[in-house]
Amino acid sequence: MKSILQSLYLLQLLDTELDDLRELRGDLPETVNAMEQDLAAVEQRIEEIDEALKRSATERSMKEKESLELIAKIEKYKGQQLEVTNNKEYDALTREMESAETTIATNEALIAEWVDKNVELKASLEQFTTKRDELSKELEIKREELKDILETTAEEEIAFVKRREQALSEVLERDMQLYARIRGAKGKAVAPIRRESCSGCYNVVPPQLILEIKKNDRLFICEHCGRILVSEEIAQETKI
Ligand SMILES: [Zn+2]
Repeated sequence: MKSILQSLYLLQLLDTELDDLRELRGDLPETVNAMEQDLAAVEQRIEEIDEALKRSATERSMKEKESLELIAKIEKYKGQQLEVTNNKEYDALTREMESAETTIATNEALIAEWVDKNVELKASLEQFTTKRDELSKELEIKREELKDILETTAEEEIAFVKRREQALSEVLERDMQLYARIRGAKGKAVAPIRRESCSGCYNVVPPQLILEIKKNDRLFICEHCGRILVSEEIAQETKI
């Protein structure tokens, strides 16, 4: 029985160490994760703006080319009008020229729109690029911090987890469930007696009960806080 009490207390010590290690990491892993997602969203936006700029440049040059061709055609129609022999042909050429001029005007309006739109796109591209650079820099720093902490804690953590598994194998399933339940509710499940009191809740433990607990032959629960009470001897003899 004594060894089970020792194992339970050892579990308590190991779990406290593991809690401390995890606390040291804090929310850094989540922070890095959230920043990676932010960065991906910004990069996606930059890509979309780049695409939009490329698309409008292509469309713009197509329309410019079309307008130049139409200007050449208008010149040609003007020449042809000097040579026509009847009104019908003359009017037909006039209509062609008017239609070409309308298309040129439409193209000019479109190009003006693209010019305005490009100014906006380039401004937001600049904004997002600055944001991306800032985020990348911050992320790099956080990643380094996390890496340092992981490197310094990983070895210890593995050692504690191994010891914990060993301690677990020495405890009955029933006792383990009790331990887990109290730990879930109280943080620490095992409280050694110190100065005639429960070290979990500081309530005095009656002398008769202390004598019983000192025998280390069964499991006692503090009637005030519900933690497993162990003798001072168990606490002194059990080390990580
Ligand atoms: Zn207590």
